[in-house]
Amino acid sequence: MARACVFCKGKPVSDEHVWPRWLRKTLPSLGAPLKWEHGSRPAGEQHRTVANWDLSLLDVKVKRVCESCNTGWMSRLEATARPILEPMIRGQARLLTVDDQRILATWVTKTAMMAEFTEPKNRVIPPEDHASFYRTQEPLERSFAWLAAYDGPGLLAHRHQGRLNPTQVLTTFSLGAVIIQHYGWGSDQIESAMIADFQGELHIWPAQDEKDWPGALVLHDREAFMAYGSSIANGLRPVVPSLY
Ligand SMILES: [Zn+2]
Repeated sequence: MARACVFCKGKPVSDEHVWPRWLRKTLPSLGAPLKWEHGSRPAGEQHRTVANWDLSLLDVKVKRVCESCNTGWMSRLEATARPILEPMIRGQARLLTVDDQRILATWVTKTAMMAEFTEPKNRVIPPEDHASFYRTQEPLERSFAWLAAYDGPGLLAHRHQGRLNPTQVLTTFSLGAVIIQHYGWGSDQIESAMIADFQGELHIWPAQDEKDWPGALVLHDREAFMAYGSSIANGLRPVVPSLY
């Protein structure tokens, strides 16, 4: 049976790049190919990378989305996000309105969803989240997003999947001067917990008020990026019980 689009259920699906064309144009001049690393470990142990794809994510295609989604709402989302994100990738400071933050959080949700299809064995995002994201085109409930800044080398991507609760995923991308991080996917524990912010980072989802980017948190190298990318599991980002 032919595969249906993960978003609209339409057929056929076509080969689509995980990363939009504009980003592939902006990024190659800024560093080495984006590396996708996957981390998972129980609390208390040193960080361990369990898989490491030596390929450029920027060139990777997946066959999960139909042409109508790709050239329609997904393309419009890219067109909305690009004017905000591209200058930041180049290191230009800017004031992010609540609306800008919502757009960036929507963009990282879509990109994390697409990137997950590059590692089919470790997929955890439930189909209903794809459907819900298609309906609302807003960041999902029970999800969080943050921004930091980066002045280290290379383009990096990291996905940390909890071992105790594998449905929780922390996805982190370094794109030029920007680090953008997303946490979410189906889990009761996320509902009943409040994820604390890292000192100096910008909490952009749920968006609360205007923010000046970059904030105080600047990561300087790959090691700091990897620690930030597994910050929930390594205890750097405390998970505190919700007041509700
Ligand atoms: Zn579709």
